[in-house]
Amino acid sequence: MQDRLIDLSSDTATLPTPEMRRFMAEAPVGDEQRNEDPTVNLLQEKVADLLGKEAALFLPSSTMSNEIAFKVHTKPGDEVIMEKTSHPIHFEAGGPAFLSGVMIYPVEGERGIFGPEEVEEAIRPDDPHFPRTRLVSLENTHNMGGGSIWPLEKMEAVCAVARKHGLALHLDGARLMNAVVATGIPAARYAAPFDSVCLCLSKGLGAPVGSVLAGSAEFIREARRYKHLFGGAMRQAGIIAAGGVYALDHHVERLAEDHAHARRLAEGLAEIPGIAIRPEEVETNILFFSLTPQARLSVPELIERLRKEGIRMIALGKNRIRAVTHLNISSQDIETTLAVMRKLLR
Ligand SMILES: *Cc1c(COP(=O)(O)O)cnc(C)c1O
Repeated sequence: MQDRLIDLSSDTATLPTPEMRRFMAEAPVGDEQRNEDPTVNLLQEKVADLLGKEAALFLPSSTMSNEIAFKVHTKPGDEVIMEKTSHPIHFEAGGPAFLSGVMIYPVEGERGIFGPEEVEEAIRPDDPHFPRTRLVSLENTHNMGGGSIWPLEKMEAVCAVARKHGLALHLDGARLMNAVVATGIPAARYAAPFDSVCLCLSKGLGAPVGSVLAGSAEFIREARRYKHLFGGAMRQAGIIAAGGVYALDHHVERLAEDHAHARRLAEGLAEIPGIAIRPEEVETNILFFSLTPQARLSVPELIERLRKEGIRMIALGKNRIRAVTHLNISSQDIETTLAVMRKLLR
């Protein structure tokens, strides 16, 4: 067993690099609640520029970014259209119901991606019997879809249908920069049709804390109220926002390495009897695989044996294991992981 944990459970496992820590330690700070933290302000301007929006707001997490966006866009009783495996449905503790009192209309996509027909079908007629459809929320890349990228034309077609019906649009872009690096399509192009977009700083970008929500100046003014109301307004937050500034300056292009590592891992896994995976579906830094009867191991058994060998992956679903590559995973780690998997499944 190697001496450190090879943590493929999530790209949230990234640790700040020594250079990032130094940059954070030296960042100028002020009172964020009074808009007086220069590093928070710098980060917000950088992200607003990157996404082609008027303004942006630094928040503690992408969960809060999504929940504030829903709060601003909806009223209690409204309905939000989302793909059924989306993050806010499964991993935000019931936030849309608890915080915004909204219904979710889950549409069925393929690897998290659906078409304009699904939206058209989900939109409720204007009739007092029905909840009022208010918002469509997309996720790019799609986590449970296996880091899948929304094809630009499909995304634009979905947004066009939503607009035609007067709906608001939110993009959960926790991993948007992975899509940007994989396709070469600028972030602002992906963000253009949406009223609000969030970016996660603490996933593949490698900052320890934070998310940024962007939109029109008016949207952000409203979002700021809810940031305060939800207890997310901070003080000398520049010290953590600096991690995001550093990440955007230094850790975007390198996401391509994570994608290459994920692809290599998937191709290696595909050659191991007992594993079912389609490497051609691995577009970014996330991959899912399952075990066939030939494996003669259950998913929990495999997870536990990997752990004993110093490798962490997680089960998401009955027969679905997720591996995520990131800043702290080297190509040697991928080869080590494949060697251990071959041994365990022999
Ligand atoms: C991780 C994630 C979030 C939430 O981010 P946190 O900062 O951990 O709250 C939201 N959406 C997607 C798609 C994610 O992967």
